[in-house]
Amino acid sequence: MTTRRDFLRTAGIGAGLTAITGVSALNAACNPINEKAGVALVGLGNYASGQLGPALKETNLCRLAGVVTGDREKGLRWSEEFGFDASHIYSYETFDQIAEDDSIDLIYVVLPNAMHAEYVIRAAQAGKHVMTEKPMAVSVEECDRMIEACREAGVTLSVGYRCHFEPHNQEMMKVAAEQRLGALKLIDTGFGFRAFGYDNWRFHHDLAGGGALMDVGIYCIQAACYLTNELPVKVSAQEVKTYPDRFVDVDETILFQLEFPSGIICNGSTSYAVNTHHLDVYCEQGAFGLSPAFGYDGLQGYIGQEKLELGQIREQALHMDHVIRCIRGEEELKTPGEMGRRDVKIIEAIYQAVESASTVALTW
Ligand code: NAD
Repeated sequence: MTTRRDFLRTAGIGAGLTAITGVSALNAACNPINEKAGVALVGLGNYASGQLGPALKETNLCRLAGVVTGDREKGLRWSEEFGFDASHIYSYETFDQIAEDDSIDLIYVVLPNAMHAEYVIRAAQAGKHVMTEKPMAVSVEECDRMIEACREAGVTLSVGYRCHFEPHNQEMMKVAAEQRLGALKLIDTGFGFRAFGYDNWRFHHDLAGGGALMDVGIYCIQAACYLTNELPVKVSAQEVKTYPDRFVDVDETILFQLEFPSGIICNGSTSYAVNTHHLDVYCEQGAFGLSPAFGYDGLQGYIGQEKLELGQIREQALHMDHVIRCIRGEEELKTPGEMGRRDVKIIEAIYQAVESASTVALTW
């Protein structure tokens, strides 16, 4: 049986053509995907079962075609619910056999942060397109290796930044881009939650790569970048531990400031000690924002004196359909690996600013 990976290899068209034509064109021409793209979820934890599974049922262009799990029984329950054969259940040990499975086009990595790099690279080497959850990885060096592996394999790499498909956040982007309330001056944003009542990989640096900043502070960084459409050039930050006995291995609360070339300042906060969930954007002629800002539902906002409430959709479904259209060469990817790398670079600068207690300059 000829797999897509064999096909790409024997066709002799890989990285070279990608560099000239762009990934989408290569994929559209040489790496056809199933009519309804087959997605395999890697890791069936809370986000996969609470959000991505239900979202897959709402997609137009995808179907869940397989899973990768350490728990065979769980895999069997998923195969029954989603109607794929048990032969498409993989373990972490048999993962690489997915290369021979032509029903799977896209692998979606939903594992602890420090495992993203390994599984994205193995997915690319299996000839599959890849999505990975945020943060893309726990270091810029890992991001570089992931991007390179996907480039070499000629597959698309996308990060699960669902807010790009969420109507309230999309409206924020529009208001900012149109300068509806004048030029942006100050962004004040925070995302944190009380991480109590359970103990899992999030509290262990070797699996999480960091604490609240990696986990939810990244949404504030994302917002600052998608609202300004700029890259920060200076970063300062301070860390506070109000529960030093609980958050031993990872950061609990971090306050950070990003300075953009146009002079816009983003004042951000992130925490595992308190619930905080807001985005306020101050402009020359008023303010706009959201609270809650980045959750799955209940988002509300304001634009000047007007209230904003657009109802909720399952943004992950829209995101996955978008990625499939990009693979087919029909749209340009909104959440590429390079964006994930950018955010990890900013996160590294924030940690460096905390460590050095000084302002860190960023060059791009
Ligand atoms: P989780 O702990 O609920 O699930 C993690 C899964 O990984 C579990 O199925 C677990 O069995 C599996 N796993 C495999 N090897 C493991 C190991 N060595 N240690 C621990 N678990 C292991 O976590 P989650 O909340 O589903 O988060 C998974 C990823 O999704 C993270 O990267 C997280 O940042 C991301 N996430 C994204 C969003 C979003 O809104 N985009 C929301 C929640 C989580």
